[in-house]
This record gives sequence, C-alpha cells and structure tokens, in this order.
Amino acid sequence: MSKNPWDRSPVEVLRAGPGFRLESFDPSATPGWSDDKDDGTERMRDQGERLADLQEMLFAEGRSGGTRSVLLVLQGMDTAGKGGILRHVVGMVDPQGVDHASFGKPTDEELAHHYLWRIRRALPQPGRLGVFDRSHYEDVLVVRVEDLVPPDVWGARYDEINAFEAELVGAGTAIVKVALMVSLEEQKARLMERLERPDKHWKYNPADLAARAKWPAYRSAYQAMLDHTSTEIAPWFVVPADHKWYARLAVTELLLDAFERLGLRWPAPTYDVEAEKHRLQAT
Ligand code: AMP
Ligand code: MG
Repeated sequence: MSKNPWDRSPVEVLRAGPGFRLESFDPSATPGWSDDKDDGTERMRDQGERLADLQEMLFAEGRSGGTRSVLLVLQGMDTAGKGGILRHVVGMVDPQGVDHASFGKPTDEELAHHYLWRIRRALPQPGRLGVFDRSHYEDVLVVRVEDLVPPDVWGARYDEINAFEAELVGAGTAIVKVALMVSLEEQKARLMERLERPDKHWKYNPADLAARAKWPAYRSAYQAMLDHTSTEIAPWFVVPADHKWYARLAVTELLLDAFERLGLRWPAPTYDVEAEKHRLQAT
C-alpha cells in the first residue's frame, strides 16, 4: 500500500479533548485529509480490507477462548449518517462477527428497568465487533433535552456512564465512541431528499422536525456529553459528517486503530498440524 495520505492522524485530530467546542466545529470540513473524495474512497477500500482481516482475527480469538471485543458507539442527529456507517463501514467486515443493536424510544419493559439494562443485554459477545446505533448516551441527550427525567437524575448519569464504560474496558472491550456532526443546512437537504424520494419516505419521521427545532438545546447536551464522558479509556471522536465519504473514511480509520491496538494474532492450533496433515494424506 502507498504511504499514509493523512496530514494528521484522524485519531488525533478528531478526538474531543479538553477545551473542545462544538460551537466552533465545522461539519463540512475534512480535517487531516487534503486529498479528494476519490482518494478517500480508495483509502477506505484498502483500510477496509485490513479491518476485515483484524476482525476475523478477533473472531478467531473469541472462538479460542478469548474474551476481548470491540464496541463502536454511534451517536448523531437524524440524517447524520449512522445507517450509512453501518452499511458502508461495518459492512466491510464479515457479518458473523458483528453484534448490532439500535436503541430507539424505550419500550415499557425497558422503561421499567435501569437505563443501562437494555445496553448490557446488547453488549458484544467475546470476539465480536459490537455496533450501537444510538446508545446509553440518549439517556443524557434526548432525555435531557425533552425533560424526560429531572436534572438531578440525568445529571448523575455522566459519572455512572464513565464507571460503566471503565468496567467494560476492564473486562476487555475496546470502546470507540463516534459523534457524527451534520450541519443544520445539510440536515435540511437530507430531510428534504427523504420527502422528495418515494424510496426514502420510510426514513422520514415528522417528529424529526421537533428535534431539529431544538438544535441549540441538542448542541448543549452534546457539548456536556463530550465534556463529561470523553475519558482517557473511552474518548469521544467528533466526526464532521456533511461529506459522507469523509465520515465513512474517518470511522474506518478510528475502528482500524482500535483493532490495531489490540495486538491481535492468529490463535495457535490446539492440535498437531503436521500430524493432522499426515492423517489427512492417509485418507
Ligand atoms: P431512529 O434512530 O431514527 O430510529 O430514532 C430513534 C428515536 O428514539 C430517536 O428520536 C431517539 O432520540 C429516541 N430514543 C433513543 N433512546 C431514547 C431514550 N433512552 N429515551 C427517549 N428516546 C430515545
Ligand atoms: Mg430517525
């Protein structure tokens, strides 16, 4: 493969560190990438092959008694492209190694439990790549904006979520948290496309306009989430999402980085390979 075309590592440039301000964030930018879309698409294909190999190694490790896993957490407003990440990024790996879950409005049963109950039940099995389309973070986003529980209740959740994630990381789950940020203008265009195209009508929900009208409140809630839960062990990556190709490339790189850091190797066989070759020859 050719040399690394990133000017700056996406892991560095997209990480929400102290002092990160959503206010001055540009959703139409392509930070760290000065090549064009075609180069980005090509890079993504190459990195996707590597990602698929590593994910197979993780799967093999899980089959051999390993307990590690990777969890991709996707957050973003409607039309930010969470579904596209699933299809185009996660879609590059073998689906048998993927545990996918999406979290909508809680059911009555879910509401009767602690908010992390449904999350725990959906965590990736050993050896799997788990993908959350929305997550426990809705419990400090929509829940905060819509006043679904009192402020002291959602306010206590940031620390609780950090403790929960520390527990997961301690148990061998690498967590990659991605917030996809689409601009207000781009969201309008994408919602309009959903209304104009019969094949996209199913994606439109009249309630999306209510959330759109509360953009500033959502931005504050996202900012608070980043301030409180972008931790050393499970940092947030804020990905500009007006350019779908960029967002998909960036998430591919972030995932790949998490897999690389696992230092995966093919598991050693539990049988004598040479002896088995001889046995097979003899058949
Ligand atoms: P979608 O992702 O388009 O299928 O929409 C799912 C909807 O469920 C979004 O409007 C979310 O804000 C909402 N949702 C997800 N989790 C929660 C939660 N814990 N409480 C209330 N609404 C939620
Ligand atoms: Mg929606």
